[in-house]
Order: sequence, then structure tokens, then C-alpha cells
Amino acid sequence: MEKAVTKIIHRDPEQKEFQQAVQEVLETVRPVLERNPEYRKQAVLQRIVEPERVIMFRVPWMDDQGQVHVNRGFRVEMNSAIGPYKGGLRFHPSVNLSIIKFLAFEQVFKNSLTTLHMGGGKGGSDFDPKGRSDAEVMRFCQAFMAELFRHIGPNTDVPAGDIGVGSREIGYLFGMYKKLCNEFTGVLTGKSLAWGGSLVRPEATGYGVVYFAAEMLATRKEVFEGKTCLVSGSGNVAQFTTEKILELGGKVVTLSDSSGYIYDEEGIDAEKLSFVKELKNIRRGRIREYCERYPHTVYRDADSSLDHNPLWDHKADCAMPCATQNEINENDAITLINNGVFLVSEGANMPCSPSAVDIFLENAILYGPGKAANAGGVAVSGLEMAQNSMRLKWPREEVDARLKQIMKSIHTTCVDAAEEYGLKGNYVAGANIAGFVNVVNAMLDQGLV
Ligand code: NDP
Repeated sequence: MEKAVTKIIHRDPEQKEFQQAVQEVLETVRPVLERNPEYRKQAVLQRIVEPERVIMFRVPWMDDQGQVHVNRGFRVEMNSAIGPYKGGLRFHPSVNLSIIKFLAFEQVFKNSLTTLHMGGGKGGSDFDPKGRSDAEVMRFCQAFMAELFRHIGPNTDVPAGDIGVGSREIGYLFGMYKKLCNEFTGVLTGKSLAWGGSLVRPEATGYGVVYFAAEMLATRKEVFEGKTCLVSGSGNVAQFTTEKILELGGKVVTLSDSSGYIYDEEGIDAEKLSFVKELKNIRRGRIREYCERYPHTVYRDADSSLDHNPLWDHKADCAMPCATQNEINENDAITLINNGVFLVSEGANMPCSPSAVDIFLENAILYGPGKAANAGGVAVSGLEMAQNSMRLKWPREEVDARLKQIMKSIHTTCVDAAEEYGLKGNYVAGANIAGFVNVVNAMLDQGLV
């Protein structure tokens, strides 16, 4: 095992998600190190796995009953070799340093693949917005920003949304930043259209997942038309993944949240999707309500005692995991393949366990890893930053065309990098190698800093 991996395990033995992400990248970049002895000499692996800066802070806030709560806030500034730190904020009770470090690490390579000048970072809190009033969420966001503001800036570190952080939270965070710094800048992306947001940013990650998948399908002369897809999650990424699949003539039969999943054999059409958007984005309800509205569908509660996730048990052609990390294990991977799935495009970050990924690769499944397939969100965030700097707003068609072009070029980059190292069809290796080489070369150019 690489010395860098042994060292992180020894240093932070409890950071399992971070170790998983590092191991996956380092395993695939081994041939690059062999070809470039300078990389080892300059200890690039040891450097790239250590965040440039980790910020952890107390977030005290008061609920509607006057009770004080204390959450923990994080910002991991992982790597700024190719641009200011860039990456989302996650508000979810499962958040801890290991999860934020894994996300920040992935973000470095993802951002590099977009070819835009963005370094990698990620942040968040173990705060759970579920069941909280708007006023509570606002007070929490203000308390969170009361510390974060001193570490970020439009040319330093530009956070965005992730799980639990959507346009409402970005609004409250931006408002507090503006008050504290007395400046109106593009310090956050995912802003509302009326005050600096970009058209297509809300749609970008989900649309990008499908654009990337369409490129993979094209390598086998296939299209989305007529394909049945399993989608997990029902938040931002899942909603717009579903929307784009529908637009391209595919059929989506599942959606989920952390309480359970629905299976709609007839397919989630545009009308049903707008019900889901209203349910999740406005009423902030649970996905089980889909079955109350459409009684012919099946709902199943989540059950953590199972050794597999039943959402993946259904017959389909494609799977788009869009909820969270490690939601597809090796049992799910085998079931998916046995049920006819030949394409997996990751909307979520690291949704497939390492053994599930191995199974996909062994079976020549078209498998698009998150750092390539879901890079559309950060790509359009990069475009939002560009528009903010110029104080311009590009039309929807222009942003969408740029997004499509970026996803196409990420696909080509992955294919070419994999082929260069004799790993044809391996998008994991392609994405890791291409992202890694770009960042490492920039680090070497900038000396030992
Ligand atoms: P949202 O908060 O909008 O939605 C998350 C969805 O996943 C919800 O349906 C949520 O259910 C479900 N979920 C979250 N945690 C769990 C869990 N532990 N078990 C089961 N279900 C869970 O987040 P996004 O759609 O923005 O993010 C989804 C994934 O996409 C994440 O992995 C994120 O990192 C990744 N991603 C997001 C990008 C973006 O632009 N937003 C960019 C790139 C990647 P519930 O409501 O019950 O919690």
C-alpha cells in the first residue's frame, strides 16, 4: 500500500470515508507515478492528501422555543493549486470531519476536470434542517456564517450548496456574509437569480449527470429514448436528473429519501415530478406522500438491517444514485447487473462502495464516477463566478450549451486518459488520472508551499 495511505490511516484511523476516497484515487494513479519519478521525489501524494487548512468551529443558535443548541461547523480547504477553494456546504446530522475531508478531496479532482480555475474545498455542519422552521434555519445559517465569513471570499474560498443546503440556506448565508463584510460579491454560488445567481445552476448537477450518461451511451451507439432508469434521492440532483431523462425520452421509476423509496412502474412523468418538487422544495415533506397522491405506486420504508438497498432490486437499464455516499454495496451491484442495468452515472458523491465499483468494472458496465458525472454543478458554479466577476447574466441557452460542452469534454478527457494508460473504458481511472495530473503539475510549478 502507498506510504501516503498508510500514513493517513495511522494519523486518523477513524476517518473511514476519507480513507476510502483516498485509496480509490491513489490506486488508480499508480501508473502515473511510475511514469513520473519526479512526483514521488516531490512527495506529491503525501502533500495532496493533507488539507491545506481545516477549520472547525462552534455554532451556537437558539430554536423557536428559546432553547440553545450547539452544532459543529467545518470548512476543509483542501487544495488551491489551480484556483480558489470551491465546493459545497452540507447540513446533515451525519456530517463529521471524515465526510467533509472525503468530499473536499473528491472536489479537488472534480474541479480540475471541469478545466475551470477552481481549487477544492468542502464544508458543512451536523445541523439537521429537517423539521426546523424557516426562522430556525435562518438563525442557524447566520450563526454558521458568523464564523465562516473570516475564512472565505470571492478570490479565496467560494462555498455552494450540497445536501441540506439549497437556495433558502444560500440566501440566509449570503445575507449574513454581506452584513459582516459590507460587500456584495460572488462569495457563494447557487444564489437566487435576482441577486447574482446563474440560470441553469439549480439544474446543472442533475442535467450534467444525464449529459455524461448520454456520452457513455453514445460509445455503444445507444440513446436514452426508451430506457428505464432507477434514481435514488429526491432532492436537487435527483429531481433534475429525472427531468432531463424524461426530456430525452427515458423513464424513471424510483425516487427516495432517507425514510424510504417509491416505485412507480408507469414512470414518473412531468406532472408527477412537479408534485415531487413542490413536496420536497416547498412543503419539505417525505417521499411516502407520493404514494398517497398516486396510490398505484409502491412505498417501502428504509431498513438499515438489510444487507442491500431494495430500491436497486427493480428491472432497469440505467441507475443514477443521487442521494448519498455508499448507497450501493456489492450486493446491490450484483442485483443491478442481474436485472439488466448496464449504465451507472453517479449524481451523488461516492455512492458506490469500492467492491461495488470493482463489480461494475469487471462486468464492463458503463460506470461514470461522481467526480466526472456530477461535475456539472460545480462547472456552472464556476460559470456563476465568471458572470459575477463581469456583473453579467448569460441567457439560459448559453449556460446550458456551456454545461453540455463541459460534460462532453470531461467525458473525452476521461476516455483519453484511461486509454493513454491502457485502461480503455475505465472512467474511474480516466477521471482520477486526468484530474490528478493537472493539479499535481500546478503544485510542482508553484514550489513547496
Ligand atoms: P438534497 O439535500 O437536495 O437531497 C438529498 C437527497 O438525498 C434527499 O432526498 C435526502 O433525503 C437523501 N439523503 C440524504 N442523506 C441520506 C442518507 N443518509 N440516506 C438516504 N437518503 C439520504 O441534496 P443534493 O441533491 O444536492 O445532493 C445529493 C448528492 O449529490 C450528495 O451526495 C451531494 O454531495 C451530491 N452532489 C450535489 C451537488 C449539487 O449541486 N447539489 C453537486 C455534486 C454532487 P432526506 O430529505 O430524507 O434527507
